[in-house]
Amino acid sequence: MTWSLATYQQGDTIGLAVLREDGTVVAPPDLKRWGSMLELLGDWAQAEDILRTIEVDDAPVVDYDTLLAPVRWPRKVICAGVNYRRHIREMGGEVPGEGWTPFFFLKPPTTTVIGPTDAIIVRSADTARYDWEAELAVVIGIGGRDIAVADALGHVAGYCVANDVTARGRHKRESVPADAFRYDWFAAKSVDGSLPLGPGITPAFQIPDPQDLRLRLWLNGELQQEESTSDMICTVAELICAASEVVTLEPGDVIPTGTPAGVGAGRGLYLRPGDLVRTTIDGLGTLENPVTDPSGRTS
Ligand code: MG
Repeated sequence: MTWSLATYQQGDTIGLAVLREDGTVVAPPDLKRWGSMLELLGDWAQAEDILRTIEVDDAPVVDYDTLLAPVRWPRKVICAGVNYRRHIREMGGEVPGEGWTPFFFLKPPTTTVIGPTDAIIVRSADTARYDWEAELAVVIGIGGRDIAVADALGHVAGYCVANDVTARGRHKRESVPADAFRYDWFAAKSVDGSLPLGPGITPAFQIPDPQDLRLRLWLNGELQQEESTSDMICTVAELICAASEVVTLEPGDVIPTGTPAGVGAGRGLYLRPGDLVRTTIDGLGTLENPVTDPSGRTS
């Protein structure tokens, strides 16, 4: 049975706890060493040894109001684009050949990251055309620069589920002074609340192979995406290596690793107030995010 590290809120209290597979939240005394997830991730070398033997079966149960995003906040959110073979084809592209290096973009951490049951707020639904992207997110525990592929998984603290919500209608600009400005990644990817994350961070030592995980996403109960992470073009290790050639990776960085086939864009489907999006990865848990307009209305 797997478990994950979660951040919960009860009244004014925000705490670090273990989320068990049955949905209960418990507080093993050993977790009191760290005041927050970011603190724990910053101490990952020590934390990992303690977490490997932590007692979760008999730990005291915690009553909570809600689960927050597990890490508040990631230091950086470095997203991989076009990283699943079948997704590239559905977007009208060609799977790249030898010599391809990962494509990344950033999301602003403190304003895009929301919790596992928070609402996805859509503004101007018709023109912005919000789409879903179920993704495996990697959480860095050991920082580094120029990390070799062979060493990369040793830098991972754990994994969680992400939904890289994308404003497709804001992506392409029609009138631009030069080709370099044709695609507006900022407008498409940086919208407030566009990265549901969680429900907890499952320590990497519980995940034997990150390239053998099954992602699924349902819109209003209808299955939209279902794929194994084995369809990735660049593996988790290759993504970490490539990102660390550009930036110093730090504990608490989050790397969403790209989405598989089944996004709405290919079929003209987009998120509407009143929708419910369920995103799950076997062994990592489920996000369940309602969609509302900015006033909180669902219709
Ligand atoms: Mg994505």
